[in-house]
Amino acid sequence: MTKRAFITGVTGQDGAYLAQFLLEKGYEVSGLVRRSSTAEVNDVRLKWLGIAGHIQLIDGDLLDLSGLIRTIREVRPDEVYNLGAQSFVRSSWQQPLLTGQVTALGVTNVLEAMRLTCPEARFYQASSSEMYGLIQEDMQTETTPFYPRSPYAVAKLYGHWITVNYRESFGMHASSGILFNHESPLRGIEFVTRKVTDGVARIKLGLAKELRLGNIDAKRDWGHSRDYVEAMWLMLQQEVADDYVIATGRTTTVREMCEIAFQHAGVSIDEHLVIDPELFRPAEVDVLLGDPSKAKAKLGWEAKTTLEDMIFEMVDADIRRLS
Ligand code: NDP
Ligand code: GDP
Repeated sequence: MTKRAFITGVTGQDGAYLAQFLLEKGYEVSGLVRRSSTAEVNDVRLKWLGIAGHIQLIDGDLLDLSGLIRTIREVRPDEVYNLGAQSFVRSSWQQPLLTGQVTALGVTNVLEAMRLTCPEARFYQASSSEMYGLIQEDMQTETTPFYPRSPYAVAKLYGHWITVNYRESFGMHASSGILFNHESPLRGIEFVTRKVTDGVARIKLGLAKELRLGNIDAKRDWGHSRDYVEAMWLMLQQEVADDYVIATGRTTTVREMCEIAFQHAGVSIDEHLVIDPELFRPAEVDVLLGDPSKAKAKLGWEAKTTLEDMIFEMVDADIRRLS
């Protein structure tokens, strides 16, 4: 029997890679799309992967519970992946209430819609390493205490615990993936890796003279989105729902990540990188480093792509895109 998957956030980076992964596995895939006056661009990532025509796109919004109930009742999914969110940390200080409504309460809306229409379906929540914030252990595991440092991280923490709570309260197969930063050529341009690879490509092609960044001493555990969506799927194939850290186990400064990108493009970092104090955040997450041991032991999952290979892929893609 063909399995059906429903993805919120299907137009985002992970949504696109996950949809591709599930189509290759033979799933019927549908996804929630926010209605936009520029509809021709909101499936740009799905088009990039060549899968736009293979997914059923349904208008809706995480804030609209009645729409979610109707949609999920119609789709009758076996698996629901909740990837939709206001996902950019910096914007969450600008729009803290919206971030709370979408990134936190939106999770409850999806869980409620499922509880009312398909409580047997399996649920994946896109939790985030940002929940660790001011880290309480050098390497973060599933049991490390959380200390969120932005409205985004606070909202994700709610989403994480409401997922655990629906599992414990109603016996739902609800899992939460605590994913560390993951990137790709489809990453939003506002995130630092993509900002760097796009900026380097522009400088290389003579379209820009400088790249302005904020705190380049921050450290992140960066993996590839294509690898990480497989972990999401693996979580939903387990007999028992659970929570997993998904990470590479290596942390790198923004500065080192920039050096990899500049060097790959043959562009001088000293001549073009400018530090802009305006780009520092009200509260910073200085370092994140995940311990993916549980995912390796229980899911048989580990990251495949190195930071270097991923940055090379992103720089090359941005040079092609801009050429
Ligand atoms: P993106 O920002 O690329 O995608 C977010 C998606 O959410 C988009 O499809 C967006 O739609 C959708 N969305 C936003 N608001 C709403 C709303 N009100 N109703 C319905 N859909 C909405 O994020 P990623 O793909 O990178 O990340 C996927 C998920 O994983 C997110 O929840 C993110 O917070 C989380 N996460 C990501 C990490 C990462 O490093 N990438 C790390 C840890 C967690 P639209 O296209 O219309 O904007
Ligand atoms: P985040 O971990 O979800 O906030 O992912 P980002 O890619 O947005 O940021 C990663 C780190 O890069 C954070 O510590 C930022 O402060 C730092 N950083 C430094 N300069 C910039 C910049 O210009 N843009 C972004 N997005 N981040 C920057």
